[in-house]
Amino acid sequence: MPLELTFLGTGTSVGIPMIGCHCRVCASNDPRNTRRRTSLHVSTGEVAFVIDTPPDFRQQVLDFGIERVDAVVFTHAHADHIFGFDDIRRFNTLKGGVIPAYGDAETLGDVQRVFSYIGNKPSPHGLYRPLVDFIEVTEPFQVGDVRLTPLDVQHGRKMTGYRMDHGPYRIGYVPDCHGMPASTVKRLAGVDVMILDALRYRPHPSHICVQESLELLSKIGAKASYLIHLCHDVDHAELEATLPPSVHVSYDGLRLRLPQG
Ligand SMILES: [Zn+2]
Ligand SMILES: [Zn+2]
Ligand SMILES: [Zn+2]
Repeated sequence: MPLELTFLGTGTSVGIPMIGCHCRVCASNDPRNTRRRTSLHVSTGEVAFVIDTPPDFRQQVLDFGIERVDAVVFTHAHADHIFGFDDIRRFNTLKGGVIPAYGDAETLGDVQRVFSYIGNKPSPHGLYRPLVDFIEVTEPFQVGDVRLTPLDVQHGRKMTGYRMDHGPYRIGYVPDCHGMPASTVKRLAGVDVMILDALRYRPHPSHICVQESLELLSKIGAKASYLIHLCHDVDHAELEATLPPSVHVSYDGLRLRLPQG
């Protein structure tokens, strides 16, 4: 079955345009410079899920015509990755049941603390709160016909990246990253598509910058790579023009279809 990846958001935590900023990227007419907070929708004929539910989640799924989410996978509990989680309840209704949410123990602990009213028991008053089974993952696990391998990533707090295997395809997804252990690089080596943090041109204490991202990508050696979690220092067309042929700047609404799963 085909595998479809939809980039629901590609921006850093404040989103682009930033509130109150009139720089050339925030004021740009290029729609690829408008960046909602980072999230990815993954769909096969059998299953559909999202990685992270940012504050923009509701508008993202409306804008990009997403009508199916069977599961949520979390990378980490920074606000820009979890604060749209309440809107998952529409997918409880559409799916007609409880939705599993996967992540590492620390991340799920934080999500459950923030959304303390969310559980897996229906309320007599209807679906005004999501129905979720929280499932801690440390080993590879299956979501429909996609196998996900959790990956250790450095980001100043617990952060889990994922490798997704579907049929012949391997996809790496690491939206927030300040470095990765050799074991993670090894698990990502040679993936078909690598989606990786590249916040800005200058170094940052908890993210890799463009140059560091390119260095990491040369070690990973993906067939195609997409830079994500970008801030307003990065103009889409300007950065794209400087990249090696296999590396691209992602943008909101970008869809990748891998034909034969
Ligand atoms: Zn982030
Ligand atoms: Zn700006
Ligand atoms: Zn983060």
